[in-house]
Amino acid sequence: MSGVSLELCGLTRRFGGLVAVRELDMRVAPGTIHGLIGPNGAGKSTAFDLVSGVTAASAGVIRFGGVDITRASVEARVAAGICRTFQTPRLFEAMTALETVMTGCHRHVPYGFLASVFSAGSKARAEAATEVQALTLLERVGLDRDARTPVARLSYGRRRLLEIARALATGPSLLLLDEVASGLNPVETTFVSDLVRGLARDGLSVVLVEHDMRFVMNLCERVTVLNFGARIADGTPAEIAADEAVIEAYLGRPRAQAASRRDRRRIGYTA
Ligand code: ADP
Ligand code: MG
Repeated sequence: MSGVSLELCGLTRRFGGLVAVRELDMRVAPGTIHGLIGPNGAGKSTAFDLVSGVTAASAGVIRFGGVDITRASVEARVAAGICRTFQTPRLFEAMTALETVMTGCHRHVPYGFLASVFSAGSKARAEAATEVQALTLLERVGLDRDARTPVARLSYGRRRLLEIARALATGPSLLLLDEVASGLNPVETTFVSDLVRGLARDGLSVVLVEHDMRFVMNLCERVTVLNFGARIADGTPAEIAADEAVIEAYLGRPRAQAASRRDRRRIGYTA
């Protein structure tokens, strides 16, 4: 595939006097894994809020598949194929894993006014098809044996996986993952890495915000670095690990000398 999945041009978000995202330019190629990194408060989650439509841009343009979606509603963006997870999982404790994923599938099932046009039989068939789809997604994220488990009884790591399954249920072509590996144990982290790689192989574009630099550097084909809302670097993991502005932002040292091998290792680049 060629072209661009997501394109941000001069994207800006102000909160009063604070510029959380400042004139951000970024291009995500289809079927690639793109990292968005930066210190706490750099504007990463706000960038996701802007792309997913949770918050409105103060300036700039967001294009998805070449279409300007800057002013589109959250629902329109989901319908266009954008989905996300949140830095703090937003799940209903009383729902089972299966029910949770089925809520993500529901936009494919007629409801409200349209539903009244369908017979009870066709609604039951649609519901059964949704359940099969949800179970397939649970299997993909390794939660098939937890299908009937209430969210309240799932471990933190499993909740994160469940959030991914629910996001995938909307049938996206772009997945935004906000710190999806934080708080996971090493086995779970490797599982998420493999899962994300598999999704990209299937053609999904993935943008991930992550603090675990080793995770980012090993997984992403391209990385964009934010600091105080502004982009300070954009490139391959190797380029990012050798970038003086990045090392300064992460290690808090003036740009006196070129990045040493040790610096590169310290920000997670191991190649
Ligand atoms: P990151 O995800 O990189 O840690 P955020 O995008 O959450 O950073 O935050 C970027 C900056 O914007 C921070 O200074 C934060 O306090 C501020 N901010 C984020 N959301 C809001 C909001 N709704 N109102 C005011 N300030 C906000
Ligand atoms: Mg954040």
